[in-house]
Amino acid sequence: MAKVSVARASSARAPARAALEPGADCPLCPRLADFRHDWQAAEPGWHNAPVPAFGPEDARLLIVGLAPGLRGANRTGRPFTGDYAGDLLYATLIEYGFATGTYAAHPEDGLTLTDARIVNAVRCVPPQNKPTPEEIRTCRPFLSAPMAAMPRLAAIVTLGKIAHDSTLAALGQKASRLKFGHGVADTITDGTLGPVRLFASYHCSRYNTNTRVLTPDMFRSVFAAVRAYLDAA
Ligand code: SF4
Repeated sequence: MAKVSVARASSARAPARAALEPGADCPLCPRLADFRHDWQAAEPGWHNAPVPAFGPEDARLLIVGLAPGLRGANRTGRPFTGDYAGDLLYATLIEYGFATGTYAAHPEDGLTLTDARIVNAVRCVPPQNKPTPEEIRTCRPFLSAPMAAMPRLAAIVTLGKIAHDSTLAALGQKASRLKFGHGVADTITDGTLGPVRLFASYHCSRYNTNTRVLTPDMFRSVFAAVRAYLDAA
């Protein structure tokens, strides 16, 4: 597993710049590296590599997703870009002032995040969209390090249980510290970072919206709470 120290960017212990992002051919998860290589051969025009975080490091909000979608971020190279999950996420971010511009499902659409940053808990596309527990653990330093490098981080939205539990672990917390559920929120004051408020949401996947597990209004309610929290801070 990659070793990455966790500290705020303003600290002298801030992680080396290179440690914030995995290499383009990161070998740490052999199954995922093989899967990437297969898709590099099948679709040489796709990104087919770990997907970098998107948005400014001085943002107060971090959104943590699960992993790149095969024909979404794995194809385009930008989180939540190119599949349905991005349609709902970016429309909601624009509505609540966390993004400006027009989302057009490709990285050159000019969409800009405002006071928000997005990263996936697992940077490489997993087969069937299901990373193993070991892969989630192995990629966690690439969640912890960008988180630690955000000097103004005040709120985190976790999309789905895997992202939620991995974020808690990255904060030095057990999953029982805030049991996953849509709309649950709590402030973590005793983690590896300073006080940060965690907001959990069901993942904005097509499956969850098609089955009405998550409606657009339910999703909006989470970001409305985040907006109110940050505006009051
Ligand atoms: S999921 Fe993360 S740790 Fe695993 S190969 Fe990809 S970038 Fe490396």
